[in-house]
Amino acid sequence: MDILENTIRVLPEYLANQIAAGEVVQRPESIVKELVENSLDAGADSIAVIVRGSGKSLIHIVDNGKGMSKSDLAIAPLRHSTSKIQSQKDLERIISYGFRGEALASITAVASIEIRSKRAIDEHGWSLKSEPLREFEIAPANCDNGTQVFVRNLFYNVPARKKFLKSDLTEFRYISDTMIRFAISHFDKRFTFYDNDTMIFDVHPSAQDIRIKNVLGKSLEGGLIPINFIDEKVEITGFIGLPHLAKPASSNQYLFVNKRAVQSKNLNYAIFSAFEHLLEKNYKPLYVLNLAVDPERVDVNIHPQKNEVKFEDDRVIYNAIHFAVSECLKQHNLTASHNLTSDAGKPFSSGNFAVGAADSPMLVNKLTGEIIEPRFQYSPKPSGQYSSSSLSERQQKGERSIFDDIFSNAKPDLSPILLANKNIVVPDDAQFLQIHNKYILTQSDVGILIIDQHNAHERILYESAIKMMNKELSKSQQLLFPVASSISPSRLIIAKEIEHELKDIGYNFTVDAMGNIEIASVPIDISEGEALQSFIEILDEYAELSKIKHSDKRDNLAASYSCKSAIKTGKKLTHGEMKSLANSLLRCSMPYVCPHGRPVILEISLLDLDKSFKRT
Ligand code: ADP
Ligand code: MG
Repeated sequence: MDILENTIRVLPEYLANQIAAGEVVQRPESIVKELVENSLDAGADSIAVIVRGSGKSLIHIVDNGKGMSKSDLAIAPLRHSTSKIQSQKDLERIISYGFRGEALASITAVASIEIRSKRAIDEHGWSLKSEPLREFEIAPANCDNGTQVFVRNLFYNVPARKKFLKSDLTEFRYISDTMIRFAISHFDKRFTFYDNDTMIFDVHPSAQDIRIKNVLGKSLEGGLIPINFIDEKVEITGFIGLPHLAKPASSNQYLFVNKRAVQSKNLNYAIFSAFEHLLEKNYKPLYVLNLAVDPERVDVNIHPQKNEVKFEDDRVIYNAIHFAVSECLKQHNLTASHNLTSDAGKPFSSGNFAVGAADSPMLVNKLTGEIIEPRFQYSPKPSGQYSSSSLSERQQKGERSIFDDIFSNAKPDLSPILLANKNIVVPDDAQFLQIHNKYILTQSDVGILIIDQHNAHERILYESAIKMMNKELSKSQQLLFPVASSISPSRLIIAKEIEHELKDIGYNFTVDAMGNIEIASVPIDISEGEALQSFIEILDEYAELSKIKHSDKRDNLAASYSCKSAIKTGKKLTHGEMKSLANSLLRCSMPYVCPHGRPVILEISLLDLDKSFKRT
């Protein structure tokens, strides 16, 4: 061979595109993200996203943006073709999502794509069809103003990438997370999102907090505090969640820089550290924060996926966000007091934890610093005074006493009362009384305890499931006769997704591709006769939970397991059962709230009883 022969070649366009696609299009979600960004850049205020087969068989985006001319459409899918920047100066000042001109090129390199587009001034639109390695086909098309993109057969020419994709459920979750991010940051726009034929959400323009609740769940009601902070470098707006909305996973953390969803460990930490003393160990606060910074002072061209940014001055932004969150918590009197011991003698720690009105103080667990729930302040009054005014009048005046809360049936949403400054201890010789087959009444070393039997059992099972998944505990019982049955395809997907975790908590099973299942053992807390039913209920609950709660697999499974397996309200318990329930509960690391955030124990101290009976 001639040693002088040239060996370096410029890659053909299609190969270059495929290489770029490797970075830009990692999974169906990447396509959804790029296409919705294009729609937003095109000024659309209504965007519909329809996916089939978790985006593997179809991704269809419809927008009402400005559309493209025939000649623009013809070059839009070429590499480095963009209408968004023209000069170096523009690159230093990115105000659009796109600027690299490679999304459409990358998608056309790995899938079949059709774009239909029409500008308002044109009489009809145009369609462009593209298949990898083929010439584009352009033809007149009947379509509305705006742009529609269809992406089919994703990765059919890149089998390695296709193999790399996760289960449908996982890929779908990536897409829905992305859609949630768009929906909560562009709350002034309409988003419609379909998975196969199921509508996931259809949200109309609204205020941001309403949008957040609409997509993240009604459970956030009353739990979001607004943030508004401005200095010359950055403007921070959005919401942080009250500490009780914190989760062991970071799934409820949304950070946007100039409306771009970004990932930043550094800034996450700035926020987390402002919350620090208010959260249970390993819990992550909920937040949706938008940072507006001068586009010249932030570089978004760090990564092909454009979800990392670099600030001109990291430190300034870090400090601003930490300060903004701390101040916000402080203004809502949520910061932990520095002299927690000063009211150690009092049964209820409340003084420093008022949220909103002064008559609804927070309860805080002094051991963990965790805030439990707002409640009405205990303020004993002569009984005559109570009877002179109606309940609602008293509530308005903030005169409700603990006993109203506990013993009146006028208000069903009782808030928990607990001794926050110590561990609850049940004496060995304590008696247990079941009330209405629902609550367990017993005594602690300093007062009365009322335990919700279902919530308590849920907490116990939740913690033991987490321990089993962490391999700190193993409790499983072999069935005398393995149970054989078959499960539906949708349940099969879930069973496969959480197979390891299910096995960890004690379900030993085998399942084939047809859904034929055989269960050989079950968790110790499940009775033999319920092997199959409990298994199926857990799969269903998990599917439900994972739609609404974007926390991690294990947390969702533990919550599903505990919810489905816990003893029900209405079940009669023996003295021994009540005792062991109370003991197991008090051994939990967080006995006061169930995995869904409901209170588990109320404690009324003798001191308070004495005060109320005028003994002190
Ligand atoms: P970029 O967004 O980085 O410019 P893309 O490959 O995503 O690169 O898109 C190329 C060009 O195609 C865009 O600059 C824009 O002019 C045009 N385009 C893409 N999607 C749309 C759309 N939904 N509406 C109008 N124009 C679009
Ligand atoms: Mg783009």
